[in-house]
Amino acid sequence: MLEMALLGNRLPVSISSMTHLDIMHGTSDFNYCPNCGVTAVYSDENGQRILSCECGYVHYKDPKVAVGVLIRDQDNRILLMKRAHHPRKGFWSYPSGYVDYGEQVETAAKREVMEEVGVEVKIGELIGVYSEEGSRVILVVYQGAIISGSPSPGEESEEVAYFSLSELPEMAFPRDVGIIGKWMDEN
Ligand SMILES: [Zn+2]
Repeated sequence: MLEMALLGNRLPVSISSMTHLDIMHGTSDFNYCPNCGVTAVYSDENGQRILSCECGYVHYKDPKVAVGVLIRDQDNRILLMKRAHHPRKGFWSYPSGYVDYGEQVETAAKREVMEEVGVEVKIGELIGVYSEEGSRVILVVYQGAIISGSPSPGEESEEVAYFSLSELPEMAFPRDVGIIGKWMDEN
């Protein structure tokens, strides 16, 4: 488990081993072989439970790439959205989501920002790449700057607002507090 120190007099934040995207898109196994449809049989390979069927089909679990964008205003507050859907409905997070197959990561970042907070952004510096043992999700976080529009809720958000680090709302995913805090501290 990662530990990421927060700012000033705040306590270190323990980073949850389960990310939002693990929760959002189940890590559950197939009950049936996706190739031939017989009841799935699993074998253990290097500690991973792998579906390997008598038809020859082997299903390896690949990582999923997600992208998030941190956007600040002139008062050094971060743009967050209140989630309109489960998981963690009613809690806050920065714009983020999965990169689609064949989609450039930066393009996915811009798309998620538009979908969730309704603004067009220029994608800036890479803030970090976050992964954890046992989690299928690799989260890539960029900094973003608004080039057009003003933040407003989209289909996936109930509310959007800027928050200072010392007044963050109840965050959906504990890891995000550490990511935001470290970035704001260093920039
Ligand atoms: Zn099969």
